[in-house]
Amino acid sequence: MASAPFDLTGKVALVTGGNGGIGKGIALGLARAGASVAVAARNRDKSTAAVAELEAAGAQAISINCDVTDKDEVNAAVAGCVERFGGLDIVVNNSGVNVRKVPQDLSLEEWQTVIDVNLTGVFLMSQAAYPEMVKRGGGKVINIGSMMSIFANETLAPYSASKGGVVQFTKACAAAWAKDNIQVNSILPGWITTDMTETLRVNVPERYRTITERTPAKRWGRPDELAGTAVFLATVASDFVTGTAIPVDGGYSIQS
Ligand code: NDP
Repeated sequence: MASAPFDLTGKVALVTGGNGGIGKGIALGLARAGASVAVAARNRDKSTAAVAELEAAGAQAISINCDVTDKDEVNAAVAGCVERFGGLDIVVNNSGVNVRKVPQDLSLEEWQTVIDVNLTGVFLMSQAAYPEMVKRGGGKVINIGSMMSIFANETLAPYSASKGGVVQFTKACAAAWAKDNIQVNSILPGWITTDMTETLRVNVPERYRTITERTPAKRWGRPDELAGTAVFLATVASDFVTGTAIPVDGGYSIQS
């Protein structure tokens, strides 16, 4: 790890879903701290635009086409990142999807889609990255959970199950990989304005207002507001922090 507490110069990061929303906010934060960044996602146009933004921020950046539910594509993404940048130090497992329905109305396919992207994708990418981090003598895995890692909601059964699973998977990897100097932590974003939540604001305005009211900060967060915690968890500043889940939520989770 680099010696200055929040310096990522010479480090290589791969961010799944780094082409938009929270993932891009984190990718830009890592880039500004000095990391080279690989954006791994499916939408090529969005990824190309994100790479341009990362380069404008002064970083070396590439995009890799990758569906995180496909083991071969995940392995190829890690290989492509190593080929371009010479190794891999930081993985941010950020890709996520949602289906809003009450449990009795969910199809098996809808259930599996959410679990596959939000939980199995985290497993596949973490497993693919592990040997590369061992080669580097250590690494950082940052998994993006949710307020639904703690709470649940009647229309968010697979999402809540997957995000609860992310926190438990994080702990298991943290325990297994501490001997390799790999720290594994989760970030639990509160309510952040992105494409994923825009539909809620438009289609269920009363829920949007309730969330705003419950949040002590009395506002929704921005994607760039996740970057500071991600940089902390990616640098030597967090070398004795592992297996934890850090809310970044304007206080949403502190009161009932
Ligand atoms: P966005 O919809 O803006 O971003 C989702 C990202 O996931 C996109 O970049 C998308 O890229 C990528 N993605 C989706 N499916 C796949 C797949 N199969 N393979 C690879 N990448 C995929 O949403 P957010 O930025 O809001 O969400 C980012 C993360 O933060 C998610 O895990 C979400 O659950 C979590 N989160 C969000 C909160 C919020 O309030 N916004 C709150 C708590 C957690 P592409 O389509 O190009 O593949």
